Amino acid sequence: MSDTRHPDTPGTLDGSTHRVVVVGHGMVGHRYAVELDEALRSAGLRARVSITVCGEERQAAYDRVGMSSFFDGRTAEQMSLVEAGWVEASEVDVRLADPVTTIDRDARTVTTAARHVVPYDTLVLATGSSCVVPPVPGHDAPGAFGYRTIDDLERMQAWADGRGTGVVLGGGLLGLEAAQALQHLGLEVHVLQKGPRLMPAQLDVGGGSMLRRHVEGLGMHVHLDADTTRIRTGADGAVAAVELADGTRIDTDVVVFSPGIRPRDELARACGLVVGPRGGVVVDEHCRTADPAVFAVGECALARDAVWGLVAPGYAMAKVAVAHLVAALVGDPAPEVAFLGADMSTALKCTGVDVASVGRHTLDDPDVLELVWNDPSRKVYKKLLLRESTGEVLGAVLVGDAEAYPLLKSLASAGAPLPGPPESVLFPGAGDGPAVAGPAGLPDATVVCSCHDVTKRSICDAVHSGAHDVPAVKGCTKAGTGCGSCVPMLAQLVDAELGKLGVQVDRSLCEHFALTRRELYDVIRARAYTTFTETVTGVGTGRGCDICKPVVASVLATLAPAHVLDGENAALQDTNDHVMANMQKNGTYSVVPRMPGGEVTPAGLIVIGEVARDFGLYTKLTGGQRIDMFGARLEELPAIWRRLVDAGFESGHAYGKSLRTVKSCVGSDWCRYGVQDSTGLAVALELRYRGLRSPHKLKSAVSGCARECAEAQSKDFGVIATEAGWNLYVGGNGGMRPRHGDVLVKDVSTEDLIRYVDRYLMFYVRTADRLQRTSTWLDSLDDPDSGLSGVAYLRHVVVDDALGLGAELEADMARHVDGYADEWAATLADPDRLSRFLSFVNAPETTDDSIRFTMERGQIRPATEAEVAAGTALPPRGARRVSLGIPEVMSR
Ligand SMILES: Cc1cc2nc3c(=O)[nH]c(=O)nc-3n(C[C@H](O)[C@H](O)[C@H](O)COP(=O)(O)OP(=O)(O)OC[C@H]3O[C@@H](n4cnc5c(N)ncnc54)[C@H](O)[C@@H]3O)c2cc1C
Ligand code: SF4
Repeated sequence: MSDTRHPDTPGTLDGSTHRVVVVGHGMVGHRYAVELDEALRSAGLRARVSITVCGEERQAAYDRVGMSSFFDGRTAEQMSLVEAGWVEASEVDVRLADPVTTIDRDARTVTTAARHVVPYDTLVLATGSSCVVPPVPGHDAPGAFGYRTIDDLERMQAWADGRGTGVVLGGGLLGLEAAQALQHLGLEVHVLQKGPRLMPAQLDVGGGSMLRRHVEGLGMHVHLDADTTRIRTGADGAVAAVELADGTRIDTDVVVFSPGIRPRDELARACGLVVGPRGGVVVDEHCRTADPAVFAVGECALARDAVWGLVAPGYAMAKVAVAHLVAALVGDPAPEVAFLGADMSTALKCTGVDVASVGRHTLDDPDVLELVWNDPSRKVYKKLLLRESTGEVLGAVLVGDAEAYPLLKSLASAGAPLPGPPESVLFPGAGDGPAVAGPAGLPDATVVCSCHDVTKRSICDAVHSGAHDVPAVKGCTKAGTGCGSCVPMLAQLVDAELGKLGVQVDRSLCEHFALTRRELYDVIRARAYTTFTETVTGVGTGRGCDICKPVVASVLATLAPAHVLDGENAALQDTNDHVMANMQKNGTYSVVPRMPGGEVTPAGLIVIGEVARDFGLYTKLTGGQRIDMFGARLEELPAIWRRLVDAGFESGHAYGKSLRTVKSCVGSDWCRYGVQDSTGLAVALELRYRGLRSPHKLKSAVSGCARECAEAQSKDFGVIATEAGWNLYVGGNGGMRPRHGDVLVKDVSTEDLIRYVDRYLMFYVRTADRLQRTSTWLDSLDDPDSGLSGVAYLRHVVVDDALGLGAELEADMARHVDGYADEWAATLADPDRLSRFLSFVNAPETTDDSIRFTMERGQIRPATEAEVAAGTALPPRGARRVSLGIPEVMSR
């Protein structure tokens, strides 16, 4: 780069304060402010530069990449990118909810909507982009939304409440995220994609159609080549239907626009800065506009003729822009650093499906080999592009399983050939092929954290410089603080480097036990401890804490089954276990009786309905195919359970770190596609593993054929029927970090299946860390002796019985099955246990009147403070006599 200083670069500091104004407090604007603050402090210039950030949104910068987790309950505060105390410590003046409306480049000022005039010496545009809204009639009707900000999501959520159908315009990454959000809100979803395949930017034709199978498997309707011509409105003026050019009409209540992004360049355009023909503020490789006092970074910038719609390139631009400004202020020549484009390889979860793309996905070149694996039964598609003459990796597309992504990405970016046969890279750990190279085997230049462009070398350097755990490495490299998908790899790297340094990795459970959960389990088992006191006296110190007590309680419950409320066990449990119910936000509890396999008789349904009616409970079907009753007071739990137990119900353990449900479809009994009795198996599995205490909750499902209506692949263990028997999937997960389960065994008999599930669950219970779900546990399995990791290692232990543990694990499970007893039935039979169920221990007949409800859709819900204050909440229920253990109908 011959370019040194821009002729009009703002001059070096001359004694007056240099004023930097950043417009936009989004992901990149915030990153710019953080980096500038740090760089100025390092250069000793911070006191001479003021930094003001003007943001349009109400919220300070948040993780827009992970924004959809809003629907998993993640709040704006939890998504915030602004660390506590940063604003005060950095002295950056952050002004929110007041957008900049004009820029006066002659006067070097910006004016905000609230008419504040803010002068600048350097202006940084970080205004991001907005969703493209097609200019079709009806696009601005109530019920039509963008999908860009937390405010959009809140508005969308409020509107969708109680409505039936949603249409998303756009089948790219953002469109599919929006579609998943609408489904989460309970709507029937249609995805309209103008082109011939989903996610065209990331996927080739085969990858696009595999993704479509996944998306349709989730119950969404996909319409390709769908050209929207009009949004029809109803009599109320709101969205009513979407019409397509081919005459199709889709009736809908909600429309979400996500067909693409448009740079927010309106300010730049209005003040005469050059913008591209399709939008975007034109910048040079230092991210400077034609006006040397104005930079543009992130999605509002048109850099190297492109708008870079991912966060990592935006962060790279922020770094470049900071380096050039600081060099100019110091009076140094322009640094070498420049934005020359970015690797757009991506790996993401799209509607719960792993999707990754590396480099190019099609190349018309006779020297290019295309290797394609297409397995519709597992919904996995993998494609590799290799240069035939050199073996160099040019690109890859992965759908349904993206485990190979980090390695392929590093090979492609280094222009390196495959290290072994393609299948060993694409299917790490599968079959008898060579084991996949773990992260420790990756080249140093591999980018581990794409969000922050952190290489393996930087992470290893950080460990060698004293950062000896993941939080410390995150703190000094920023790796893992973006979308978070690299954290498992980061943890493995940290461990591997610590191992090389000979540093003992401290995995002690807590200050009271210098043992891992796994070691503690082995000790308790070997020494046959039956109480916490015995355990802490034998192998620990002190009196225990909130970390070790529930862990010991869980291990004891597995090895020496006893009632959770018996003896000193009662004091060890987590809050919910204490009362064998789930505490809800207003201090009331929910009650969930077990319904194995989702089956319930009409008589059982009637009892549940009567109990809910008599105790005034809110009822809702759960995702695990049972009925949850909300709003019970502590003192009501025994009377409620008395009625349920008398009717043959038992605890559903919805409160415990234990088996929740085994969902099922109706299978061969009723369904014309079913090939096995999925409900029968689900009932048998649920009855076998009910009450099994484990490091975290366990969920399961059984589907009667490959159509997978029970969603077994998203469970800790899931079973899918085949003509020949059953396929067993392990390590699946829904929630915030969805993961499809891995196949452990295929086409096995019912007897073999149960044996493998016994071993799998007991191996997990024995070896997983505290609060580690099976998905992360499975990812963490890595055995240097066998060279196997993940599901390959699990298969080695569970199926091949390579450690000779099989019989022991089965015996442990048999002991659990034989020792099972319903916790609620046992509680009702014992006055000591019942005495825990009082809100006011000294006045058992007093109820807690601070709990208030209001009515919504014919049922109660907790009243808000505002509703209580406004007098619109239901009156408090008066004190009632509560006879412990005696069935009693309460009137409300
Ligand atoms: C749902 C979703 C999922 C995504 N997933 C991924 C992913 O998996 N991987 C990935 O790399 N990227 C992803 N992205 C893209 C990523 O979020 C963006 O690349 C990133 O946010 C760009 O940062 P930015 O600061 O340029 O823009 P933004 O984060 O959009 O911030 C711009 C800010 O400027 C504000 N602003 C605009 N005009 C003004 C004004 N006149 N005055 C004051 N403030 C103004 C805006 O309100 C906004 O707060 C996703 C985006 C969305 C919406
Ligand atoms: S998974 Fe198969 S058997 Fe079960 S309901 Fe769906 S189509 Fe029928």
